[in-house]
Amino acid sequence: MRTIDDLDVSGKRVLVRTDLNVPLQDGRITDDGRIRASVPTIKKLLDRGARVIVCAHLGRPKGEVRPELSLAPVAARLGELLGADVAFASDVAGDSARATAEGLADGQVALLENLRFEAGETSKDDAERGAFADRLAALAELYVGDGFGAVHRRHASVYDVPRRLPHAAGDLIAAEVAVLRRLTEDVERPYAVVLGGSKVSDKLGVIDNLLGKADRILVGGGMVFTFLKAQGHEVGKSLLEEDQLDTVREYLRRAEDSGVEFVLPVDVVAATAFAADADHEAVPADAIPADRLGLDIGPESGELFASRLADARTVFWNGPMGVFEMKPYAQGTRAVAQGLIDSGAFTVVGGGDSAAAVRQLGFDEDAFSHISTGGGASLEYLEGKTLPGLQALED
Ligand code: ADP
Ligand code: MG
Repeated sequence: MRTIDDLDVSGKRVLVRTDLNVPLQDGRITDDGRIRASVPTIKKLLDRGARVIVCAHLGRPKGEVRPELSLAPVAARLGELLGADVAFASDVAGDSARATAEGLADGQVALLENLRFEAGETSKDDAERGAFADRLAALAELYVGDGFGAVHRRHASVYDVPRRLPHAAGDLIAAEVAVLRRLTEDVERPYAVVLGGSKVSDKLGVIDNLLGKADRILVGGGMVFTFLKAQGHEVGKSLLEEDQLDTVREYLRRAEDSGVEFVLPVDVVAATAFAADADHEAVPADAIPADRLGLDIGPESGELFASRLADARTVFWNGPMGVFEMKPYAQGTRAVAQGLIDSGAFTVVGGGDSAAAVRQLGFDEDAFSHISTGGGASLEYLEGKTLPGLQALED
């Protein structure tokens, strides 16, 4: 894969696909991790005299202009972090984008409006996507792919534009790929994987593939109740994906056959409602009351999980252990984060919410070997899939 060091960018218009898909609340950015992660590549290009045109998506506007999903607040924050003015185009690849791109001098930067305001960006129709890619590519002379969080999407800005322009991988993608290689080739063992988050169906593919690679799989979060149910326990009103029970049973069987250790919680924080102020208490994982729902792994499980991480040499973690957004249900996630740090292993945190949790709970990001900017992308890589955005950069 070519990197930006292989491109002569001085005086050139460079389209940079980044991942700026940050959480917003009432128009305010609640976690700017992805914006900060995009800064080094942009800075490097600006320092080398490039005219940088940044493009990114925000949320799922489904091809329509949705003012509440404008990237305008992101442009402002990016400007603060770069210490430079960021010219903001009010469309994606129309008159404003063209004028903005043409108005750039060497070392200046612009941001285009939300890519997904254009239906062509995500279209499954090659011609429709290609037509939009033509317009985007026409804005620039070079392309740099640096939006790791989107490389698993066959989208115009990720897959089609690099096939139209001389291209290279940005430093963020190069770093992410180097880490993922370390999780898949010559892994230092024991290799432990911690999975959580809300939906088991999102993570089945990765479990399938990891059953042949990891030594231990620790499961928490909302997905754990499908596992507990598969073991014959009642889970009350907790999240449950009935249609995945058979698959989960098969995974547990395969793990036993192949000597992979599955670690499930022994206790659960069960609440009367999905609310921070609901009545809640830790109960044994096999005795969740019928009228309660599990919103975190319990304190004994936190200790158990940390102990199963202590001697690991490699740890990959995706998905919070509980509803960490509410204080009473953040302890399990905190215990696992601390367990990763204390292990001294090569530790990788993947997933937007997991990364946000680590920051929100006050951990020092540098205490982890790597915090990935892409949840779905890193999971699909670990599933063994070919990622369109990486493939396009390699060609
Ligand atoms: P990531 O973005 O790190 O990949 P996910 O998107 O899969 O993680 O899941 C994150 C969400 O899972 C969080 O918003 C969290 O509140 C939710 N979650 C965790 N545990 C539970 C639970 N027991 N019940 C319901 N939701 C949960
Ligand atoms: Mg998420």
